[in-house]
Amino acid sequence: MPTQLPLCPRCEEDWVHSYRFKDDGSTFSLCTECDSFWWPHDALEIPNPRFLDDVVAARLGVPGNPWSAREWAEAIEPVGEGC
Ligand SMILES: [Zn+2]
Repeated sequence: MPTQLPLCPRCEEDWVHSYRFKDDGSTFSLCTECDSFWWPHDALEIPNPRFLDDVVAARLGVPGNPWSAREWAEAIEPVGEGC
């Protein structure tokens, strides 16, 4: 059950959840409503969000939409309770 998660400061439509990349375990915060992305050292403030697509595309070295040939679940996963 979700506890007190921060409300997304950009869209205010969803909570910001903890996720991680499956390849190297890097953790980050993500709003799945507007795809705003924060590294742990980024402040959860409106001017700061990166976008998930941009970060993933940069990691993979591919231009544009990185999801055309893959699913979110292949690259990232939510960080469960107690992790
Ligand atoms: Zn949002």
